[in-house]
Amino acid sequence: MFEGLRKKFSDFVEGLSKKEEKKEKEEVSEETQAEEKKDVVEEKKAEKREEPRDERKEENKEEQRQERKEARKEEKPMEKAPDVTLVTKIKGALLRKVKIGEKDVDPFLEQLRVALLQTDVNYDVAEKIVSNLHQNLVGKELESKELTKGIREEIRNSLMQTLSKNSGVDLLKLAKERKAKGGEPFKILFLGPNGAGKTTTIAKIANMLKGNGIMCVISASDTFRAAAIEQAAIHAKKLSVDVIKGTYGADPASIAFDAIAYARAHKLDAVLIDTAGRQETNKSLIEELKKMVRVNKPDICIFIGEGIAGNALLDQVRQFNEATKLDGVILTKLDVDAKGGNTLSILSETTVPVLYFGIGEGYADLVPYDPKLVVDNIMPN
Ligand code: GDP
Repeated sequence: MFEGLRKKFSDFVEGLSKKEEKKEKEEVSEETQAEEKKDVVEEKKAEKREEPRDERKEENKEEQRQERKEARKEEKPMEKAPDVTLVTKIKGALLRKVKIGEKDVDPFLEQLRVALLQTDVNYDVAEKIVSNLHQNLVGKELESKELTKGIREEIRNSLMQTLSKNSGVDLLKLAKERKAKGGEPFKILFLGPNGAGKTTTIAKIANMLKGNGIMCVISASDTFRAAAIEQAAIHAKKLSVDVIKGTYGADPASIAFDAIAYARAHKLDAVLIDTAGRQETNKSLIEELKKMVRVNKPDICIFIGEGIAGNALLDQVRQFNEATKLDGVILTKLDVDAKGGNTLSILSETTVPVLYFGIGEGYADLVPYDPKLVVDNIMPN
């Protein structure tokens, strides 16, 4: 009986080694062929220069070719796609569960590090994620049947956990509840840097609320950026919702105040307050924002940021959140080459939830935040 088991095991190991060898050969052969072609071209060039042909030189060339081939063999990376080590695989063939070693996880984590940075995750956050995963994975026992899949799943689960943190507010539900209760209109303040998509997102939210029977007024309180008031008015007209406008340079807090009074007088359900774009570092504009909040007491403050913003986004969210507590983030322009990795930075480092993604310029281009979409972008299943 033992003989049979031993034979099975040795066949299995041999099979594994052969498979690995074959895979390696296939990957290496393409590059080797290219390198060999290059060698031949170089030799041809040299031949042109050094006539006539001589037997001794021909032999030397063959020797040199072989030497280069051997050297290349040594420097080739084993595999491009990560996998667990052969030793772990062998253990996996014997045991039901296998302890994962450092060498098993390193290639996976290296690939993850690159993927995180490529999807706009803040550098420090990426390092933290990789290091936490390293700590959690090394020594962990996984089912031996599918080790590679198991490690990938562990990584995906861990990303999913971070991305599902900070459960968000349901804007629509809150607005509906307020409408059912009657009384004060539901007030939403939108803030963030210039050009992030605040006015466009307000129009998208107005469209969504209207589609759900929530009637709103837009407060065009960006009295700073040229054409911002007209832009808000154009959206309002297209959507057939009311808009309250002031003049450029006017106090934005007073325009929002008027819009709230208008909503009360006309029994509207919600007020969507636009603000001028500002950098989190501009002290006087941040003070102005605080005044806006003090005077108008919004129910919800939403930060609008660009999904394509890299490291800066996390600092913006942190500092706006310090100035006036944020209830959520909407990331725009996810349709423009953004993978949503910066949600990982926000969710890992702050308590602010992500609510929606903007995925285009149309009114319907707003989708609820979905952590799975981000995980799939970072590490496809
Ligand atoms: P604001 O300065 O923050 O009010 O930004 P705007 O609403 O004026 O938007 C700036 C630009 O971004 C405009 O050209 C918008 O059409 C565009 N924009 C806003 N949201 C999105 C989005 O989700 N996807 C794309 N592709 N463009 C967007």
